[in-house]
Amino acid sequence: MNIVDEIFDLFEKRGRTAYLGEPVSLLEHSAQAAQEAEKAGAAPSLIVAALLHDIGHLIHDLSEDVADRGIDSRHENLACRWLSQYFGPEVTEPIRLHVTAKRYLCRTDPGYIRQLSAASIRSLGLQGGPLIEEEAEDFMASPYSEQAILVRRWDDLAKVPGLATPDLQRYRALLELTARRDVA
Ligand code: FE
Repeated sequence: MNIVDEIFDLFEKRGRTAYLGEPVSLLEHSAQAAQEAEKAGAAPSLIVAALLHDIGHLIHDLSEDVADRGIDSRHENLACRWLSQYFGPEVTEPIRLHVTAKRYLCRTDPGYIRQLSAASIRSLGLQGGPLIEEEAEDFMASPYSEQAILVRRWDDLAKVPGLATPDLQRYRALLELTARRDVA
């Protein structure tokens, strides 16, 4: 199975379950995030990052080393490791950093916490809370911090119950284009 088929298979088989206390399934959440990226006129790699930013939640129970870590499965690191086999840093880095971006925005944007979902506020503590100053500096020094912030903002918007989104298959060509040809 090539990577794009594997991704669709994961969404199909595991994406319909509720998404960590949010009122949407992971499939709906991912489609809404990709749609927000498209609406913003994002580059193809960033639309793919938005679409796949939570794929770590779909693969984490296939991996023995995260089984016992409780609610925070560090899904962003898992997704980055898995996707790095097939996608470049323009896709994997915003994904790896999307939780740090949330912690960064909690530090720097006074209105940010207020618009987070209840589930996202609950997970903030487990994820380490708002970044401290040195961590915020490190985050902003990383080459994909701006892209990670964009993915994070689309992530936060992508929790609307019942919102109609196009079929995920419409992203197939974009995924195939973005995946490295030698491994796709
Ligand atoms: Fe998300």
